[in-house]
Amino acid sequence: ATQPYDDDNVFARILRGELPSRKVYEDEWALAFHDINPQAPIHLLVIPKGRYVSWDDFAAKASDAEIAGFVRAVGHVAREAGLPAPGYRLLANVGGHGHQEVPHLHVHVFGGRQFHAMLV
Ligand code: 5GP
Repeated sequence: ATQPYDDDNVFARILRGELPSRKVYEDEWALAFHDINPQAPIHLLVIPKGRYVSWDDFAAKASDAEIAGFVRAVGHVAREAGLPAPGYRLLANVGGHGHQEVPHLHVHVFGGRQFHAMLV
């Protein structure tokens, strides 16, 4: 079972406006902002507005509308950043072995350089 959602996690605080972020996109379902410690020339994070710990939690509990809205938001963010033509990379870390540090689902959007076989 997934851990309970922690309302004090840093992305919950960003969603509530208690912490600043460099926002690039927001709609009913999702918020996107620059990663504070970028690993590529473009490194964005897309998070759902709902209280989901991880991809696993989201896939199990979110409504079809939330899932569709979030997936579309990720695509929108990548297009707005000009990434589809050169290409880009998406990543979601899940749990301990996945090295997930912030317990609110986030998809990393990396772009602006050539990537290689895997990020490990
Ligand atoms: P994870 O390892 O959980 O997949 O990635 C968490 C990401 O969140 C890291 O890339 C980290 O740099 C980023 N991050 C952590 N705290 C903050 C913050 O307060 N603001 C922003 N914009 N990014 C953060």
